[in-house]
Amino acid sequence: MADPAPAELARLVRRLRAWLAYQGRLGWPGAPAAPLAATDTPPETPAPPPRRPTLEEIRAEMGDCRRCKLWRTRTHLVFGEGSPTAALMFIGEGPGAEEDLQGRPFVGPAGQLLNNLLAKLGLSREEVYIANVVKSRPPGNREPEPDEIAACLPFLKKQIEAIQPRVIVTLGRVATQALLDTTTPLTKLRGTWQRYQGIPVMPTFHPSYLLRFPRERLKTWEDMQKVMEFLARHE
Ligand code: SF4
Repeated sequence: MADPAPAELARLVRRLRAWLAYQGRLGWPGAPAAPLAATDTPPETPAPPPRRPTLEEIRAEMGDCRRCKLWRTRTHLVFGEGSPTAALMFIGEGPGAEEDLQGRPFVGPAGQLLNNLLAKLGLSREEVYIANVVKSRPPGNREPEPDEIAACLPFLKKQIEAIQPRVIVTLGRVATQALLDTTTPLTKLRGTWQRYQGIPVMPTFHPSYLLRFPRERLKTWEDMQKVMEFLARHE
């Protein structure tokens, strides 16, 4: 909250100036001949920069969110989880069936694969942050539609603002294109450094794609090596 003291002081100076002018009109010899200069007013204190919202505040703002049609078919809203100060943030597309039931991101088979990847990198889920572009499950595991992404993306952006990760890894085409606001195919972006609001972004495959095409896992491993090298160099 802004310090109220300067505003109160300015109000007192205005009242004093008016009182002195009134006394001057009455002929009081102690009144100044000329009005007090405007520079006698204390300078305004610059407004402090807006405080970043916390994850708890963002979750509270979402409430029982009904900002798009996905609320009708979800069981739980899947906000995201992990360290609120994570250096590394993973962003997926949206909750699947198991995530919808549990209210947690990446807890189904794709989540198991992500856990394995993290373990091989020497990381735990608790030290990274995992979230999705849309927080409610698209029915039948379809991709989220543009209006659903548009409704939910502001909350992901607020999560990023709150966490301030040093690196973001986008998992799959939907998350990559939504965050980077591009239609460039994932095949062109995967494994190459991108940027979101100055934060380095490494697009890679979604774990559920890797479950279907295991031979592509090596590419995601190579992408994650780049991420780990970057984090090690920028500790
Ligand atoms: S997907 Fe996002 S915007 Fe849509 S209802 Fe769920 S939480 Fe709200």
